[in-house]
Amino acid sequence: MNFSNLKWPLSLGMVVPAVMVLIASVSSSGPGTGSLHDAKPGRSSAGDLAGFSAVAPIDAHVHLYRDDPAFGDLMERLNLRVLDICVIDDRDPFFKGLEPQRGDVLKVVHTTRGRAAFCTTFSPYDFEEPGFSRRAIRQLDADFAAGAIAVKIYKVMGMEMKSKAGKWVMPDDPAFEPIYKDIAAHRRTVVAHIAEPDSCWQPPNPASPDYEYYQQHPEEYAYRHPEWPSKAAILAARDHLLAENPTLRVVGAHLGSMEAGVDQMAQRFDRYPNFAVDTAARVPYFMLQPRDKVRAFLTKYQDRILYATDLVVMPTDNTEKALGEWKRTYERDWRFFSTDQTVEYLGHTYQGLALPGPVLQKIFHDNAVHWLPGIIESN
Ligand SMILES: [Zn+2]
Repeated sequence: MNFSNLKWPLSLGMVVPAVMVLIASVSSSGPGTGSLHDAKPGRSSAGDLAGFSAVAPIDAHVHLYRDDPAFGDLMERLNLRVLDICVIDDRDPFFKGLEPQRGDVLKVVHTTRGRAAFCTTFSPYDFEEPGFSRRAIRQLDADFAAGAIAVKIYKVMGMEMKSKAGKWVMPDDPAFEPIYKDIAAHRRTVVAHIAEPDSCWQPPNPASPDYEYYQQHPEEYAYRHPEWPSKAAILAARDHLLAENPTLRVVGAHLGSMEAGVDQMAQRFDRYPNFAVDTAARVPYFMLQPRDKVRAFLTKYQDRILYATDLVVMPTDNTEKALGEWKRTYERDWRFFSTDQTVEYLGHTYQGLALPGPVLQKIFHDNAVHWLPGIIESN
């Protein structure tokens, strides 16, 4: 979870009629027909969302805890599926335990008729207690039986947890190894939000996409905690986990926290065939890097990147406001990836990548099907 994605003020009243009109024209603008290749500046945004729906998009990273049928309706209209992720963080009252999130997510899976798929997690905090891994495995196996297709691990490993002896607890701690083995044996996927953007370790910079987040969450701001492990040490532990578990599929959330340079991701993809990343809350980092370089990277590693947003809806959030934000986020991202029109971000404009249809099809659909088995069958 990371709340640093953009907020889009837009009312549902504006959204729904537009979406319905878009969907009506979906069939004529799918990828591979040439229409996405040929996107030109000035093309209407209506065409953009129709193209989005035509690829049967999958958003591989959301936190939807509000059981309102309106979300299922939106998913149906957009032909959208999502991975609905639980996370445990003892610094936040709502996220202290697996419940009530687990119950919320299971309700959402039900009311969306499986368009939302369940990603569970386990509490790592009692890793030194006797029977820890056995208990965690029993809980995960019950969640797999209840339909969970993935397991989230979180940045509290490496950035918060310490052993009783005072050592930092990293994601590759031997205490977690039996759990990773169990997840691999069940052919489920780990969604690994490990470390944070580089800016978490850097002085406040208003031009950074994450500036506001760390202003609001000083307790998560490594720059204010020089005693925390370095980002390099945390990513090295994550990489060690990948090397130790070659049959475990791992999707690194938030571009695997290698958002600042596509070369870092390329290096890991070359080294670890069991590793992919999602784009959750980090699409702007593609805007900030040289367009040709990002385009070449996404083309070369087109099998390793899963489109995702990190949209968050808490149980008491306003549905209309949330739906507006979802729709605007998808619209902006689709425009950026699929056309060469400009998108605006933090007062600057960036030219879209105009990726070829077959690449879009992988990033927005096929890769989620491959890396998150069950994302479709679970409905
Ligand atoms: Zn998240």
